Amino acid sequence: MLSPAEGLLRLKEGNRRFISGAGHADRLSSEARRKELTKGQNPFAIILGCSDARVPAEIIFDQGLGDLFVIRVAGNIVAPSQVGSVEFAAERFGTKLVVVLGHTGCGAILATLEELRRPTEGHSPNLRSIVDRVRPSVEALFEGSIPPDDEELEHRATRANIRASANHLRHGSQILERLIAEQGLRVVGAEYSLESGEVDFFEGA
Ligand SMILES: [Zn+2]
Repeated sequence: MLSPAEGLLRLKEGNRRFISGAGHADRLSSEARRKELTKGQNPFAIILGCSDARVPAEIIFDQGLGDLFVIRVAGNIVAPSQVGSVEFAAERFGTKLVVVLGHTGCGAILATLEELRRPTEGHSPNLRSIVDRVRPSVEALFEGSIPPDDEELEHRATRANIRASANHLRHGSQILERLIAEQGLRVVGAEYSLESGEVDFFEGA
């Protein structure tokens, strides 16, 4: 299994290929590879990303079949089923790297900011459960004497939400705490830019 540092390097190199248009994920998803993977999987990274159609992890990191164990949920929030999915992959496959992947222009972040500015009754309870997960880390940004402008607020809220999810994974599970302490599991936070295609590993990397 790749170490966290080796895994990060592979993701960064893949993202560079994606940006330059030199991706080779097609080769990594060949028929031969598909057949090989019927015997088992060995993903080198677990990605907890947003469901946004513009941020598919395998494509932006130029990885193929069997490389990434991907959990996608609007706003890359962490609820029990996300923790369970990360626990499953880290224990079962020995994967050492977990990436919480948020992105610019995230609808879940924008919905939460909107809700904080003008509370509404319109959301379904299910959608509200997503906004409620994002809200605590974003709420603090409204407490300063001079609130930042909209663009800066969105930027800070996106990163605060990624940090909160990463910290939840680091401290919200005894299994993951043990894997971090004893097996060198690492959880990092990253933000994908819709504009540039670049992933910035800004937290814990
Ligand atoms: Zn999103």
